Amino acid sequence: MTDTIYMESLVAEPSRSVRQRPPLIDPFQRPITYLRVSVTDRCDFRCVYCMSEHMTFLPKADLLTLEELDRLCSAFIGQGVRKLRLTGGEPLVRRGIMTLFRSLARHLDSGDLEELTLTTNGSQLPKYAAELAALGVKRINISLDTLDPDKFRAITRWGELDKVIAGIDAAQAAGMRVKINAVALKGVNENELAELVRWTHGRDMDLTIIEVMPLGDVGEGRLDQYLPLSMVRARLAEQFTLQDIDYRTGGPARFVKVVETGGRLGFITPLTHNFCESCNRVRLTCTGTLYMCLGQEDAADLRTPLRASSSNDLLDAAIEAAIARKPKGHDFIIDRRHQRPALARHMSVTGG
Ligand code: SAM
Repeated sequence: MTDTIYMESLVAEPSRSVRQRPPLIDPFQRPITYLRVSVTDRCDFRCVYCMSEHMTFLPKADLLTLEELDRLCSAFIGQGVRKLRLTGGEPLVRRGIMTLFRSLARHLDSGDLEELTLTTNGSQLPKYAAELAALGVKRINISLDTLDPDKFRAITRWGELDKVIAGIDAAQAAGMRVKINAVALKGVNENELAELVRWTHGRDMDLTIIEVMPLGDVGEGRLDQYLPLSMVRARLAEQFTLQDIDYRTGGPARFVKVVETGGRLGFITPLTHNFCESCNRVRLTCTGTLYMCLGQEDAADLRTPLRASSSNDLLDAAIEAAIARKPKGHDFIIDRRHQRPALARHMSVTGG
């Protein structure tokens, strides 16, 4: 089915409620209310910590159609998911992606969904920001590791800083709240993080700094990239007053207020601090595989029950069975004996 035909069939859907089943609770009594969906494994950048330069991507025929992605997301919403984040790869390079946003926005209108959002590298936002905001996307995460154009090109291999800044401008002009995500990279941006704090806060954006995670073979030793955030925080504390605050976004970041700028700074520390105890999320790939944990191999195939029947009974049962297997947490390690990735799959597959 072409995207155009698909769009016509989707916009005809009324925005009635799909809530029908009891909420999903995992074996550790955590309610699962947050679904992240990688809508494509492809990206217009090749960030050195995320992908190797010559990635092999999935054949397009293996991808779920946009209509199937909509059906899967809607089934999760029917089971109590309240927050939906589209990611990738780069979600905004998936052909026809705005038809999926347009269609999913009906769950905001019905009140079943609290938040529809995305994580993006920002390159396509000049084109899409206004429509995303009009559909009800209020907050957006944009990834940006450096403000130096040459370094930006070196990190992303293919990206241009100007285009991402234009994307950030477009998102803010459209009225969306922007959070910048920066991965801390040893010897690359470690001396720039204070500047990034000043810059983001000066533009009324939050900043979250992320520890590099050992996901997928990227052709470089992880030990070369890894910078513990305990060290980053200690260095920032030499320049800024960092006050612990209770603010949470429903994700794993722990936030501080930077007294000098008045802005918020988050730290995501999968390696130095285990953040699993409050995990409320699962991750769906663009082929319909559900990962119950970013850092574990176990996964559930939802494509087979999705395609087996046009009713959602099999699919709902498969979702429930998967949540019943959600593990307590992950166990990433980077040290000299563990130079290989902890998991073979890249972040672009599971969705960052
Ligand atoms: N293309 C979009 C973007 O750039 O935000 C969405 C997908 S990207 C995989 C999501 C986030 O994961 C980005 O902020 C990226 O920096 C981060 N990321 C990718 N690989 C990572 C890794 N190995 N460790 C930590 N963060 C990673």
